[in-house]
Amino acid sequence: MTQFIYTPAPTKVIFGSGALSQIREVVLELHCERALVIVTNGQIEQGRHVMNLLGNLGVSLCHKAVMHTPEDVTESVVYDCKDIGVDCLVAIGGGSTIGLSKALALRTNLPQVFIPTTYAGSEATPIVGQSKGGVKTTQVSPTVLPKVIIYDVHLTDTLPLKLTLLSGFNAMAHAIEALYAQQQNPITEVLAKRGIASFVKSLPALLEDPHDESARTEALIGAWMCGTCLASAGMALHHKLCHTLGGSFGLPHAEIHTVVLPHAIAYNTEAARASLDKVARILGTDNAAQGIYDLQKRLGVVQSLKELGLKEEDLPKAAEIAMSRVYHNPAKLSYEGILALLTDAYYGRRPS
Ligand code: NAD
Repeated sequence: MTQFIYTPAPTKVIFGSGALSQIREVVLELHCERALVIVTNGQIEQGRHVMNLLGNLGVSLCHKAVMHTPEDVTESVVYDCKDIGVDCLVAIGGGSTIGLSKALALRTNLPQVFIPTTYAGSEATPIVGQSKGGVKTTQVSPTVLPKVIIYDVHLTDTLPLKLTLLSGFNAMAHAIEALYAQQQNPITEVLAKRGIASFVKSLPALLEDPHDESARTEALIGAWMCGTCLASAGMALHHKLCHTLGGSFGLPHAEIHTVVLPHAIAYNTEAARASLDKVARILGTDNAAQGIYDLQKRLGVVQSLKELGLKEEDLPKAAEIAMSRVYHNPAKLSYEGILALLTDAYYGRRPS
């Protein structure tokens, strides 16, 4: 019998080329007039552009966002928010920038506007990851959901090709795991299939021409859909392994998702055959794990943990950490099975 609970996010989504031009009206609609604009060091230009569009509503530009959202950085920005008298947060960037905004919202309850510029999907989720003393933890809270998301295709035009492709696999991973999640439901299934299809179509086009506006549009629609899947369906082995490899071994986020994905799919192929057959069909193949691996090869993205700098002697430790957490996964989890998966990912072997 089909049973599910589905809670849609109370977030307004504005999508389109040039949609960023609406930022001032968006902030006014929230009854706010003192916005803190948040970026990474690398996206200060985009931050300045948002400040210009906001005019007198933009009170300060914070460029302290970094990967993994360290708590000491967050605390220093909370202090700035109080000092300056900020009444809303506007984050423009990828998951790291949105992560800092979420961590601030958790502490201050300030309303947020997210303007995502990668395909990681954090803007759509109530999940916030934070790190302290090298340990990264995540928590779920509706307080970190934004009031508004502005998806402006033009802003993704500057996303370097390499990160474009890696971020696309990061997004697809959310949708693929949603298809076999415990909390799967008909809405996430539709979003997942369309989200995966968006990237299967757009990534090869972006390899040919990273400035292809219709491919950028398709990819950004896919990012929204895949992010929504991450928000509403619990994730399994793939995401837990990526969390382990990122949190405990410091490997980069989008790269790990890309490398691990075909191997996590292979691990679950028998146990989640009906779900993964849907993925295979979108890829135009009869084996989803091989289909993803072959698409990656065609796009020339990184395919081995070895290339990411992991040491082979770290694999047993990573398998142990992944086994120490309890979570739903279609295939039964075993230390030997996960170690074999990680070894295949380490060498970048094509799933059999
Ligand atoms: P990122 O935010 O770290 O961005 C990577 C780099 O690309 C940064 O230097 C950034 O400034 C730059 N960049 C981003 N967009 C750009 C653009 N359009 N043009 C030029 N440069 C651009 O990378 P990410 O993969 O988006 O996010 C990774 C982080 O997000 C991780 O910490 C991960 O844990 C987190 N995340 C959280 C969730 C969630 O739901 N909480 C979901 C996905 C990712």
